[in-house]
Amino acid sequence: MALRYVDEFRDGGLAAKILLRLKKTVHGLEPMHFMEICGTHTVAVFRSGLRDMLPEAVRLVSGPGCPVCVTADEDIDRAIWFARRPEVIVTSFGDLLRVPGSESSLLEERSRGADVRMVYASYEAVKIAQDHPDREVVFIGIGFETTAPTVAAAIRQAAAQGIDNFSVFSVHKLLPPVMRALLDSDSLRLDGFLCPGHVTTVIGARAYEEVARGYGMPCVVTGFEPLDILQGLSMLVDQKRSGRHDVEIQYRRGVTWEGNPAAQKLLEEIFEPADAAWRGLGSIPGSGLAIRSAYADYDAARRFSIPEIRVRENPACRCGDVLRGVIRPPECPLFRKVCRPQTPKGPCMVSSEGTCGAYYRYTS
Ligand code: SF4
Repeated sequence: MALRYVDEFRDGGLAAKILLRLKKTVHGLEPMHFMEICGTHTVAVFRSGLRDMLPEAVRLVSGPGCPVCVTADEDIDRAIWFARRPEVIVTSFGDLLRVPGSESSLLEERSRGADVRMVYASYEAVKIAQDHPDREVVFIGIGFETTAPTVAAAIRQAAAQGIDNFSVFSVHKLLPPVMRALLDSDSLRLDGFLCPGHVTTVIGARAYEEVARGYGMPCVVTGFEPLDILQGLSMLVDQKRSGRHDVEIQYRRGVTWEGNPAAQKLLEEIFEPADAAWRGLGSIPGSGLAIRSAYADYDAARRFSIPEIRVRENPACRCGDVLRGVIRPPECPLFRKVCRPQTPKGPCMVSSEGTCGAYYRYTS
């Protein structure tokens, strides 16, 4: 099927045909569970109404691919520690500012007088540093392989321009290591991964080969339009039925096997893989990005002496279980009762890509 333009990927008639074929294909089969790892997929599935249209045998499980949601409590508390220093201007993306830490959020700190600023891109934080040479500007760097190259570029720009009051607190995450960690745990039954198109434009589809071959797990790289997702699910079903576990690319208009070599080179220059703490998943080896020692001056974790942080988690919040695909948001006792987008108790309700927020907005 040659689909090239956005409108074609929203064609209701074509969607109905693919759905009908999918329903016939899986009729009478045992349920198959496919994880949409990425929050952008989760929201796209809800927004398009696909979740309610899928046949009973094709079940979607939401995964840990929302960067705000997976930021560990201790890293939110560290961001708040930065905000409480009078010489520091903290900058980050909007959603992160609302995530509750042990005592407060960055937004609450701002209401108490801290200098916390929302930016849309990391280069804006470099500009703030340029404009305020007497202050320290710390950018809280969150995101997956899609965002990390832009942060790497900001660090390189600051270094090239001799801006010495800008640093990054890197809590970036990498997708393939968390996929392996999920499969290493025995709490989840999965039949395949719907892999995100945007991350894969950077890392290349080859990055999932270890997951597909090593774990016998079908992987299909998919775009974010309704027909992309439907076609991706059909490809996963076909793999499952024929006993294959390959990496396939549905999103051919954006993704190659090799990915984006320039972005990879930039990542390689500025960052190195490091163990990282994930909310609800603990520490996962090699799943984060630390700033290389050559750029240590731009590493907020080295520039400042961050004290030991004692985290107090909200015991009732089930974000960890939601992120591992073990429960759905309505199974959390706080969902819709005290936890709502206006009064979030966990990051999965805060983020525009969070699973709890998507359930809240798109289900009754
Ligand atoms: S409903 Fe709220 S508290 Fe419960 S898991 Fe979701 S974000 Fe966390």
